[in-house]
Amino acid sequence: MKDYASYSYWLQSCGDDLTPRPALNGTIDADIAILGAGYSGLWTAWYLLERNPDLSIAIVEREIAGFGASGRNGGWCTSGFPTSLDRIEEKYGRAQAIATHRAMTGAVDEVGRVAREQGIDIDWQKSGTLMTARGIAQLPSVHHVAKSMERLGFEDEFDLLDKKQLDERIRIAGSVGAIFLRENAVIHPGKLVRGLARAVERRGATIYEQSNVTSFTGGAYPALHTDQGHVRARTVVLCGESYMSGLKGVGRQLMPVYSLITLTEPLTAEQRDAIGWRNRELVDSCRYTVDYLSKTIDGRILFGGRGAPYHLRSKITRHDRHAETHKMLEDNVRTGSGAQGRANLPAYEAWWGGRAFRRTTVATARKKTSRPPGGTPARGWQPPISLDESWRI
Ligand SMILES: Cc1cc2nc3c(=O)[nH]c(=O)nc-3n(C[C@H](O)[C@H](O)[C@H](O)COP(=O)(O)OP(=O)(O)OC[C@H]3O[C@@H](n4cnc5c(N)ncnc54)[C@H](O)[C@@H]3O)c2cc1C
Repeated sequence: MKDYASYSYWLQSCGDDLTPRPALNGTIDADIAILGAGYSGLWTAWYLLERNPDLSIAIVEREIAGFGASGRNGGWCTSGFPTSLDRIEEKYGRAQAIATHRAMTGAVDEVGRVAREQGIDIDWQKSGTLMTARGIAQLPSVHHVAKSMERLGFEDEFDLLDKKQLDERIRIAGSVGAIFLRENAVIHPGKLVRGLARAVERRGATIYEQSNVTSFTGGAYPALHTDQGHVRARTVVLCGESYMSGLKGVGRQLMPVYSLITLTEPLTAEQRDAIGWRNRELVDSCRYTVDYLSKTIDGRILFGGRGAPYHLRSKITRHDRHAETHKMLEDNVRTGSGAQGRANLPAYEAWWGGRAFRRTTVATARKKTSRPPGGTPARGWQPPISLDESWRI
C-alpha cells in the first residue's frame, strides 16, 4: 500500500490512518456511479442524497478519498469565481453578476455549515482574504476589484487598506496596500475531504477505494469499469480531475496543470512578531504568476504557486516535485518575498497536486483593466493575459 500520508501535510495531519476502504469486486447496479472521491465526487453524492435519500450511489476511487487535489490544496475556501464579476455583468447583466457572487459567498458558508453539522472539524475560519498590491503597479488591480464590488452593491464586504493598515495585519515586503475581502474562509482541506467521505457514507453512498476505473460507457448503458468489477448505473459522473487525462474517451480533452506548495514549521514567537500576522487571513498578490499564502491553525505558513512544466502525453508521476518551482517557493519562504524577510522561515515540506485544464484553453489578451480568471491582472498599459477558457464565457 502507498504511504498516503506522504502526499501532503493535510493527509498527514487529518486525523485518519488513511487505511483504504474495500475495492470494487464484481458487478453491481446503482442509480449513480461516480468516478473519484475528491470534493467534486463527494459533494455531488452529498447533494444528490439530500434531494433523494433513496438513491443508490457508488463512488469508485483509484486510491483513497482525498488523494487528489482535494487533499493537497492551499486551504482557500473563497467566493472566487473563474471569471470576473465585470465580465459576468458585461455578458449577462447586473442581476446575474450579483446572483453569482451571492452564490459563491453562500458556498463558503455552506462548507462551514455542513462541516459543523456533520461534526467535521476542518479548522474553518472566516478570516477573509488580503489581496495585496506589491508595488504601485499592482494598486490599480486592487482598486478595480473594489470599484466592481461597490458598483454591484457589495461595499460592506470589503475594506481598502493603505500600507499602514496592511502592515498592522501582516508585513509583506514591498507591499503598498490591499483590499480585504471578508467573505472568505481558510480551512484544513484534508479534514474536509476525509470527513465528507464519512458523511456521504452515513447518507448511504458506498465508496470503493483502490479501484482504478479503466474505462466508462455512456449512452444507453452507463457504467464504470475496473479490472475487478463494473458499476452499472443510470448515470455516470466523472470527477477524476487531472487524472482523467489518462482516461480513454476524455483524456485528450484535458491537460494536467500542476500547483506546488511549500509549508513551514510552526512559527516561533519571534517569527510571528516579525510578520505580525495574528489572524489567519488568506493572502495573495496581483503578481503575474499565481502566488498565495495561508496559515494553518498551528501557525505554519503555506506558500503556493505554479511553474512546473507539462509532461509529454500528460504523464503524471508519483511525486512530481519540480525542483525549480519548489526552490522558487522555498526562496519565498526563506527570503520572505511573500512575508517579512527577517522572519527567515524554515521550510518544512513540499508537495504538488494536479488540476485539469481543457486542452482547448488558449492564451488570450484583452485590452481591459481587470483581473482575468486564473490569469494576470492588467496594469493600465498592459492587457490582461489569461490561460483560462472561461474568460471567453
Ligand atoms: C496544489 C493545489 C492547490 C490548490 N489550492 C486551492 C485552494 O486553495 N482553494 C481552492 O478552492 N482550490 C484549490 N485548488 C483546486 C482544488 O483543490 C481542486 O479544484 C479540487 O480539489 C478538485 O476536486 P476534484 O474532486 O474535482 O478532484 P480531485 O481532488 O483531484 O479528485 C479526483 C479523484 O479522482 C480519482 N481518480 C482519478 N482518476 C481515476 C480513475 N481512473 N479511477 C478511479 N479514481 C480516479 C483520484 O484518485 C482523485 O482522488 C488547488 C489545487 C492544487 C493542486
